Amino acid sequence: MVTILRIGHRYNRDKRITSHLALVARALGVRKMIIAGEKDLKLKDSINKVSDSWGGGFNLEFVLYDEWKPIIEKWKIKGMKIIHLTMYGENLSTFEKSDTFVELRKQPNNVAIILGGEKVPGKVFQYANWNVSITNQPHSEVGSLAIFLDHFIVNALKTSFSNPKKQIIPSLEGKKNYR
Ligand code: SAM
Repeated sequence: MVTILRIGHRYNRDKRITSHLALVARALGVRKMIIAGEKDLKLKDSINKVSDSWGGGFNLEFVLYDEWKPIIEKWKIKGMKIIHLTMYGENLSTFEKSDTFVELRKQPNNVAIILGGEKVPGKVFQYANWNVSITNQPHSEVGSLAIFLDHFIVNALKTSFSNPKKQIIPSLEGKKNYR
C-alpha cells in the first residue's frame, strides 16, 4: 500500500489538520504515514486509539522536519515512485487518464504520496516524479488526499479492517446499530 509523507507539522497549529490527514489515509486504506515536523505524541495516541477500536493497524511515524529530504532520496534510490499533491501540478483528471497512472495503481507498494504544510520546499517539486493537482485551485491537504486516494486506491471506499472492536452496520436511516 502507498506511503504518505506529510512535510511540516506544528504541534499547536496543525494538530487537527494532520490528525485528519491520518484519519482519511487510514479510512481509505493507507497503512503508513510519516510526518516530518514537531513530534506529537498526543496525535499518535489518538490515531492508535482509533485503530484499536475500529481495527487494522496504522503506522504513524514522526521524524525531524529536515528528514523529509533523506527520506525522499532513499525512496528514489529504491526506485519508488513519488506523487506530490500540489495545486500547481497537472490536474488529476488528466493524470488519471495516462498509462502511467493505470500502471501505478497496480503497484501501490511502490508509490509514495507527498503532502505539504505551511510552505513546501521547492526541491520537492523536482524530486517528485509527478506533481499532481486536485482542481488547480488552492484548498486543503485533507481534501486533496481524500480525492486522490479515492481515485488511486482500488476500492478505497470499501476498505475494511481486521479485528475491529467497533463496526458500523450501514443504514440509510442513520445511526442504527454498531458493535
Ligand atoms: N502555499 C503552500 C505551497 O507552498 O504549496 C500550500 C499550502 S496548502 C494549505 C498545504 C498543502 O495542501 C499543499 O502543500 C498541498 O499538498 C495541498 N494542496 C492544497 N491545494 C491543493 C490542490 N489544489 N491540489 C493538490 N494539493 C493541494
